[in-house]
Amino acid sequence: MTLPIVHHAGFAPALPQGHRFPMAKFAALFAELERLGLTPPGAVHTPDLITHENLLRVHAQDYVDAVIARAVPAAVERRIGLPIDDGVVRRALLASGATLLTARLALAHGLACNTAGGSHHARPDGGAGFCVFNDVAVAIRTLQAEGRIARALVVDLDVHQGDGTALIFQDDPSVFTLSIHCGANFPVRKERSDLDIDLAPGTGDGPYLAAVGHGLAAALAAGPYDLVFYNAGVDIHEDDRLGHLAVSDAGIAARDRMVIEAIRGRGLALAGVIGGGYTTDVEALARRHAILHRTAARETRRIAAKDNRQAAVTD
Ligand SMILES: [Zn+2]
Repeated sequence: MTLPIVHHAGFAPALPQGHRFPMAKFAALFAELERLGLTPPGAVHTPDLITHENLLRVHAQDYVDAVIARAVPAAVERRIGLPIDDGVVRRALLASGATLLTARLALAHGLACNTAGGSHHARPDGGAGFCVFNDVAVAIRTLQAEGRIARALVVDLDVHQGDGTALIFQDDPSVFTLSIHCGANFPVRKERSDLDIDLAPGTGDGPYLAAVGHGLAAALAAGPYDLVFYNAGVDIHEDDRLGHLAVSDAGIAARDRMVIEAIRGRGLALAGVIGGGYTTDVEALARRHAILHRTAARETRRIAAKDNRQAAVTD
């Protein structure tokens, strides 16, 4: 059993020359996954565009219609920070379709990862912070409507607060939102997650990992869950342009291992999305995002080996 990976070349449309969003990282991440041998035949799944109907489970009709018509008000487009043109709209529809597919694969196989996703600043009535549609929220609402899941957990470890996700599920006991972030970062006005852990700039590996352990334990104690989403943002890294948490590559690897082992160790299905990462060195950034997929692939192999051993004993 190999790790199911969801990818589409349309995740990386062309942006105006010099745009500050590192769109090139999506192709670089997939190239890195190929280099690591994580894309054998059958491992890579191609998403469909998310449907209008599924977007409306989270987002306001006016907003969805404006995005589809490429007629978003200038103020909203500024908040998003991306030009709402054909490529970016298609990318947003594909990324939401991809997170939904990742969730379906996680339910079927235990663990699956997207090569995009984690648009956690998008709210029902508009996007923000490079996020057009809240892919994780759309996937949760869709799977709930289909009767595939009842309760979900969102573990959001991007360096920015998952304010859109927190707002969407604020009064909804069927979804527990955990956000561990740096309080000094965007957004200035935070929303209330079920559990927020607000870290100081320069926190570093040790205290960061302790906070993750604490947050995970508290969130898992509030279960049971049918599905867990993990936003593995790497903008916690010490070299990141937008984050301030001073976590190393080894710290990111330890974090991803901790999250995946805690969730899979309880037998819960886990869907991984990559979240933010804004280092200017795109190759380094791609390697950093690939830590999620490497760690998830290792866990998939470990569980498969354990199942084989058990099968050998019972045969
Ligand atoms: Zn972020």
